[in-house]
Amino acid sequence: MTNLADFRLAVFPGDGIGQEITEPTVRLLQAAVRRVGGFSLTCETYQAGAGTYRDQGVALPAPALRAARAADAILLAAMGLPEVRYPDGREIMPQVDLRMELGLYAGVRPVKPLPGVRPVLSDPRAEGADYVIIRESTEGLFAPQAPGTRDGDREARETLVITRRTSEKLFDFAFRLAEERGGQRRVTSVDKANVFQAFVFWREIFAERARAFPGVEASYAYVDAFAATMVQKPWQIDVAVTENMFGDILSDLGAALMGGMGYAPSADIGDEHAVFQPCHGTAPDIAGRGLANPTAMILSAAMLLEWLGRRHGVAETHRAARLLRRAVEAAFAPGTLVTCELGGSAGTRAVFDAVGVALERTEAD
Ligand code: ATP
Repeated sequence: MTNLADFRLAVFPGDGIGQEITEPTVRLLQAAVRRVGGFSLTCETYQAGAGTYRDQGVALPAPALRAARAADAILLAAMGLPEVRYPDGREIMPQVDLRMELGLYAGVRPVKPLPGVRPVLSDPRAEGADYVIIRESTEGLFAPQAPGTRDGDREARETLVITRRTSEKLFDFAFRLAEERGGQRRVTSVDKANVFQAFVFWREIFAERARAFPGVEASYAYVDAFAATMVQKPWQIDVAVTENMFGDILSDLGAALMGGMGYAPSADIGDEHAVFQPCHGTAPDIAGRGLANPTAMILSAAMLLEWLGRRHGVAETHRAARLLRRAVEAAFAPGTLVTCELGGSAGTRAVFDAVGVALERTEAD
């Protein structure tokens, strides 16, 4: 941060639909900031991703990584293209490298259906669902220090890594979030401790850390049962914390329960840095056609503002976040803005226009 009220953002449009939803999101973000006042955002855009790898031979150029490290926060759309790969066949996903580089262990995935978006679940109580899945994002089954092995055509193995160091920080993050939300004040450990010793260890650490937060209930669920709860009784969930692979799967389920990938925002948060990006990928099947739903990206930008506000104690950033959220809610509330992923005709432009108009009409609190 250069001074108290000016925050520097590193912005990464990435690939595919990322290129279509980034610039208008930054415009909305700046409009919300202007409406509220009291702080400013300086946004610098950097190219990285599969397209950059194809053009420059490097997916995350050193200046872009330096800028990401130096920024107060990072706004990223999506990276990766199925046809552009490293010589060994792996997909190019510098956003995952960034998580490791910057130690972004807490993947925060809110699940809160927007009123006015066609409900996916038929039980009307599901419309009141408002919970957060925290996906550990640096180890588990994706731990870079324990890559899988393959023995010819005989067998292949993967390793699930749970460390005390990361788990303690992750659980503290989850319990603090439940306190801040002030809702049901419950954190659920979502694991498979009935089968794997790594999750027995995980639960031991979870129970230890829970004792430091007596005002928050600690509960436990096996991941299979938890997936069913997300569908059958989602209103009973508050904060759920889980391993990387389980979180990858459950957060896509959460996105689907909100109406589709285009509605699901997320944040990857560490001790010093944070990246805000929608849950979805680059959606090559719809890229370049103006069909991408930008709602997840706009809501991710609101999460960015909230995080800056908490970190730096700036109340105005929270007000700007609330304004942006309320504009999204107002745009969808009448039920007439039906995005393409739900069979409607509202594409990228229509959603941005509707949120932009709502932003102008919505009072900042
Ligand atoms: P990644 O592996 O990078 O997460 P993915 O292969 O899982 O990506 P996505 O790019 O997230 O897939 O796309 C999954 C499906 O959701 C695709 O059919 C895509 O068109 C759709 N989709 C993703 N994002 C959006 C969006 N913003 N608006 C509309 N549809 C979307």
